[in-house]
Amino acid sequence: MSPEPPTDDTVVAELIEALGEQIVLSSPVDVRFRTDWSGHLPAEPRAVVLARTTAHVSTALAICQAHRQTVVPQGGLTGLAGGATPQSGDVVINLERMVGIEEIDISAATMTVLAGTTLEAAQGAARGAGFELTIDLGARGSAQIGGILATNAGGNRVIRYGMAREHLLGFEVVLADGTVVTSLNKMIKNNAGYDIKHLFVGSEGTLGILTRAVLRLRPQCLSRHTALCVSPSYADVVRLLQLTQRVSTGLSAFEAMWPHFCSFVAEGLGRRLPVDPGDGFAVLIEVTGNHPDIDEALFEDLIGSALETGVISDAFIARSNKEVEELWALREGEPIDRLPSVINFDVSLPIGEIGGFAAACERRLIDRWPAAHVMLFGHIGDSNLHICVSIGAAGVDQLLAVDQLVYATVGEWSGSISAEHGIGVLKRDYLAYSRTAPEIDIMRRIKRALDPDNILNPGKIFGLRTGAP
Ligand SMILES: Cc1cc2nc3c(=O)[nH]c(=O)nc-3n(C[C@H](O)[C@H](O)[C@H](O)COP(=O)(O)OP(=O)(O)OC[C@H]3O[C@@H](n4cnc5c(N)ncnc54)[C@H](O)[C@@H]3O)c2cc1C
Repeated sequence: MSPEPPTDDTVVAELIEALGEQIVLSSPVDVRFRTDWSGHLPAEPRAVVLARTTAHVSTALAICQAHRQTVVPQGGLTGLAGGATPQSGDVVINLERMVGIEEIDISAATMTVLAGTTLEAAQGAARGAGFELTIDLGARGSAQIGGILATNAGGNRVIRYGMAREHLLGFEVVLADGTVVTSLNKMIKNNAGYDIKHLFVGSEGTLGILTRAVLRLRPQCLSRHTALCVSPSYADVVRLLQLTQRVSTGLSAFEAMWPHFCSFVAEGLGRRLPVDPGDGFAVLIEVTGNHPDIDEALFEDLIGSALETGVISDAFIARSNKEVEELWALREGEPIDRLPSVINFDVSLPIGEIGGFAAACERRLIDRWPAAHVMLFGHIGDSNLHICVSIGAAGVDQLLAVDQLVYATVGEWSGSISAEHGIGVLKRDYLAYSRTAPEIDIMRRIKRALDPDNILNPGKIFGLRTGAP
């Protein structure tokens, strides 16, 4: 059993003595460290360690472990599940000062990067060396490589390049007791025993603090073609996906938008869409390639075949960067954020079942809250559906009732309650809808083996805040 965190300031004094006041900020600390993007229950930590090096992280964790002081790792605080939100009395270890690209290996096509580096900075460095870092998401300016790996983030290009996990070749992590594990592997093939880096990917700061990463880079793409298509039904959306994957090896985005999503967002943006989806689905397709001389014609052929076979009834091909941006602005769905008390769900189901699930879930929500807005869109090729629900200005109990209804429906359909944003605290109570008891038991056993005193991000993903994990 681990006791409650210490109530006096001994641990803070020791941290300051070991690391100095430039590194350790003690109470009152800046409000920005109190919660992540979800805004979940902000709380003031006991101290914030702004580590610059792996040694700082190791020293801080060793001191915290000795005092059984609870610790919350923080990256760019763009997480949407409350995973980086501290509770009063926690020590935060934030990596925003641990930034930089250590190496780009041209032959291996890898980048070795410090974990606090933002995605945008890492992407820029890769481009400067003639490569592409093919992880991409809307929070790129703030989200850090460490946070992206700790949540196994997805984003816009998963259909072509996979989740963050697929980009990671080597890593460095500091364990709860301060032990540094360095494995800066650059090789694509390495089956020498368990591939332990994958334990830490998606572990949301509960098993260790990632400090460095070796990431795979890809050749830069030389062409990009984008279209907005109209598919009459969800079955046609799936057929369009299959056709596109058969014809093109370069599919890098396939974003389906349900009718109410399109009409609501277009009205909010004050724009007419270049195609009218009516009661059908709008699908944003993007294909990238390396043969600019022929890629455009191939893309037009693809759209032509889709029209001929009837899987789409209309299409608009963007001819300028401005038109591409306008299509993506529709998909970003910014007007939805203006609705009161919007809850954003990020769920996953087998591709063929998403249409049926979406209809069932929407029907249940509208039956219970007839005036609700239910907006659906998704990275369908990645089996990922986003559901945005607003039942109007609502209290906590009503919002929890919406959560319960949606996650129970996901459970009935054997889907996942988290496609890409993680569990954090916000989805912790629903984990059993998507993981069996033996699976959760294995998670607990791994947690106990690596963090027996439960000091690292306690109460996130599963388990109790104090006591055995
Ligand atoms: C506008 C916007 C768009 C987004 N789009 C997407 C998207 O398309 N796809 C997607 O998957 N997510 C998306 N997200 C969610 C978010 O950006 C990702 O989860 C991101 O990976 C979090 O990175 P971060 O550095 O901000 O981490 P934080 O929010 O600071 O932390 C997230 C979790 O990781 C842990 N953590 C952070 N750094 C470390 C570390 N170095 N070592 C160990 N644990 C650590 C924290 O304890 C916490 O549990 C979006 C968020 C926003 C605000």
